[in-house]
Amino acid sequence: MNESRVIAYIGLGSNLQGPQEQIDRALQELTELPESQTVAHSSLYRSRPVGPQDQPDFINAVAMLETDLQAERLLDELLGLEDRHQRVRDGRLWGPRTLDLDLLLLGERRIVTERLQVPHPQMTVRAFVLVPLAEIAPADLLIPGAGKLSELLKEVDRSGLTLA
Ligand code: AMP
Repeated sequence: MNESRVIAYIGLGSNLQGPQEQIDRALQELTELPESQTVAHSSLYRSRPVGPQDQPDFINAVAMLETDLQAERLLDELLGLEDRHQRVRDGRLWGPRTLDLDLLLLGERRIVTERLQVPHPQMTVRAFVLVPLAEIAPADLLIPGAGKLSELLKEVDRSGLTLA
């Protein structure tokens, strides 16, 4: 890999308008990002919503890319993909959505800007992120500031998570 090339893990989630199709389409669209190659993606999982329960279950997956994009450029690409899925931002925290894309990890970088926090702050306590991530990541993957994925997996509550 050249110097700017880094492994990025992207978390995908959808619970509206054909969630499985939304995720399948988004996985395909991720393969078309500039200056990037998709290396792998996990199986699709079904999870109960975090927060408000008056909404459908989510379909989740995690994708692994090699990318030369700078972090904020990659974020812009992800937000652009969300917009292509007619995502409506109603400001409701943990509300329903056609497509949610989170930049989970960018190598072992720690990034805090106005627009971006990497590692994604909630990823370490979410089974719908950690379980699919473990399918495709090296066994000893380190989550900066939080420790080894294998250790986090032992602690996480997996209730409500099944294969889709
Ligand atoms: P939400 O889609 O509700 O998860 O929030 C999207 C906003 O979170 C984006 O507009 C980003 O500016 C911000 N954000 C901060 N850190 C991240 C991250 N690691 N991945 C994706 N979005 C992030």
